[in-house]
Amino acid sequence: MEKKFVMHFPPVLVDKPIISTIVRKYNLEFNILKAFVSPEEEGTLVIAFSGKEKDVNMAVSELKDTGVQIQMIESDIKMIRERCTDCSVCVGLCPTGALYMDREIYEVKFKPEKCIACELCIKGCPTEAMISTI
Ligand code: SF4
Ligand code: SF4
Repeated sequence: MEKKFVMHFPPVLVDKPIISTIVRKYNLEFNILKAFVSPEEEGTLVIAFSGKEKDVNMAVSELKDTGVQIQMIESDIKMIRERCTDCSVCVGLCPTGALYMDREIYEVKFKPEKCIACELCIKGCPTEAMISTI
């Protein structure tokens, strides 16, 4: 199973190899969807963990114990293809590249595995083609 999380690292933890240690310990695969450090040196990571559910849960629990603030991304974003006019407004809004223009066929495509459920596309889409199912 895969779960996505937003993680906030306080400055004291930003340069520690916490994620690499935890994924090795719990035998997880991970995919960093977005990462940045603020001017105050707080780190933010949007990350997907894949592995056994109990291992993902234990890894998250251990990260919380070390001082990382964690929110699970629970929204499920979907594209209703029949409503989409390929206007590409959402492509410019999407921070992760989950929405992109397929230039071979001039059609806007959605890659759910890259989506961090920020909902910017939902607010920006003129035809309500992007929806949250939760
Ligand atoms: S903004 Fe809406 S209609 Fe336009 S390309 Fe994106 S999903 Fe399609
Ligand atoms: S919710 Fe929409 S804009 Fe946000 S990451 Fe997902 S596809 Fe991109």
